[in-house]
Amino acid sequence: MTSTDIKPADNDTALTSVNPATGEVIGTYPIADEDAVRAAVAKARTAAATWGALSYDERKTHLLRWSSRLVADSDEFCRLIHAENGKPLDDAFLELMLALEHIAWAAKNAKKVLSPKKVSPGAFMANFAARVEQRPLGVVGVIGPWNYPVYTPNGSIGYALAAGNTVVFKPSEYSTGIGNFLAEAFAKANPDLPEGVFSTINGYGATGAALVKSGVDKLAFTGSTATGKRIMAAAAENLTPVLLECGGKDAVIVAGDADVKAAADAVAWGATANSGQTCAGVERVYVDRSVRDEFVAEVKKILEKVGPGSGADASYGPMTMPSQVDIVRRHIESALKNGGTAVLGGPESVKAPFIEPVVLVDVDEKSEAVQEETFGPTVTIRTVDGVDEAVELANSSKYGLSSAVYSKKNGLEIARRLHVGATSVNSVLAFAAIPGLPFGGVGDSGIGRIHGEPGLREFARPHSIAVQRFAIPGMALLSYSRTQSTMKLLRKLVPFLHGRHK
Ligand code: NAD
Repeated sequence: MTSTDIKPADNDTALTSVNPATGEVIGTYPIADEDAVRAAVAKARTAAATWGALSYDERKTHLLRWSSRLVADSDEFCRLIHAENGKPLDDAFLELMLALEHIAWAAKNAKKVLSPKKVSPGAFMANFAARVEQRPLGVVGVIGPWNYPVYTPNGSIGYALAAGNTVVFKPSEYSTGIGNFLAEAFAKANPDLPEGVFSTINGYGATGAALVKSGVDKLAFTGSTATGKRIMAAAAENLTPVLLECGGKDAVIVAGDADVKAAADAVAWGATANSGQTCAGVERVYVDRSVRDEFVAEVKKILEKVGPGSGADASYGPMTMPSQVDIVRRHIESALKNGGTAVLGGPESVKAPFIEPVVLVDVDEKSEAVQEETFGPTVTIRTVDGVDEAVELANSSKYGLSSAVYSKKNGLEIARRLHVGATSVNSVLAFAAIPGLPFGGVGDSGIGRIHGEPGLREFARPHSIAVQRFAIPGMALLSYSRTQSTMKLLRKLVPFLHGRHK
């Protein structure tokens, strides 16, 4: 049996998860129908009364216990990630490590970020004390992808829990075992908590769709732009707020003053690691003509020694989702039809479920390979005459997730010109490993932010409170007892406060 023999379908009562490299069955899970989804949300709502009432310090203790449990079980967990997702064991461990960094950050910073804050009441309301308090939303529904099946959904799960919400998580149908392992570790680490603080529901798109309309207080989605749009439309029916982390077509700019070897090293890794199945992976490169030949030669030299597989010596694994193989092949063919040249690999590099690295140069910018998310171990490299052209082309995308800039002198300045959610300077993907930095995109890459302070605020409801400390005689603005002398005074005060600027 190969991985393409078992394709998830929406019409079964059970979901079978397979190893994408070997086709070996990993587990079978009952599919949650609408009733099961509603029941999970109801249980989470009951648990929210307990979890939401805990102090930030108490929640921190529970979250850190969860982390310690994941560390204790990391060998078993990484073996599962390798088997179900295909990525090498070391990459599985790195993914887990990054997720743990985020859990720790969210757990330790929730109190500071979400504690009540005093606000100045302003001149006309000086007799009031004003404050903003943050309340948990209640139950957060999380729908995740398979490419980083721990790190990516955890950007919502860890932060939503730290902000005092309970979570119902639907893992991708390609990483169901991993998603359940994550939730079971939470329950094992916290036997004193009620069931339903963090639970999973398993299934395909239909189970996700049932979660969207289940009455959750927010839906946090990570996945493709097409699904994100469907979810936003469905969520609109109940005005359920959404956080959407969608696809990308990230560009790297290599300026004339770049450290060319460092840039090539980063591009080679950023384009092909995880089989290129990284939302913020390198898909396009714009390199200055003065360093182009050296850069292309260096990328090629590195990637000639890189290859996929499922053994210990593999640089990266198989394509996790069989249907993605055809998209990658189509993009390579479209690049070659549209003026591009393959300096490494080509259509013959596609050996499903594995794809060897493919480096494409001088591809027409209108080609699918440049416009659409490829999500495979390929990269397009285009020569540009200076930074202005590079910035213009990098920004000519419907996506705007992240980006990178290589320049010894002007990295920050170039970064500021990019219309994206995040940029690494003289590195790739660095922002994703710094928990304090928010992550998310513009345009077709999504709405909202995970990680950092904004990532905690996404899962809290600001509650503004204005407390009248004393009444000012004759200044009752919010009453029919307001007098004409009050209005006379206001007519003098308003020009003084707001009318003096020429
Ligand atoms: P996908 O959109 O096919 O599926 C994502 C999830 O949505 C799965 O759990 C799926 O079962 C569920 N789903 C499908 N149809 C649904 C519906 N109608 N209603 C509710 N849920 C539904 O995406 P994928 O193939 O799993 O993931 C790959 C994509 O994710 C890529 O585009 C990648 O760029 C993106 N991604 C983005 C980020 C980010 O942070 N921006 C991170 C990782 C992956």
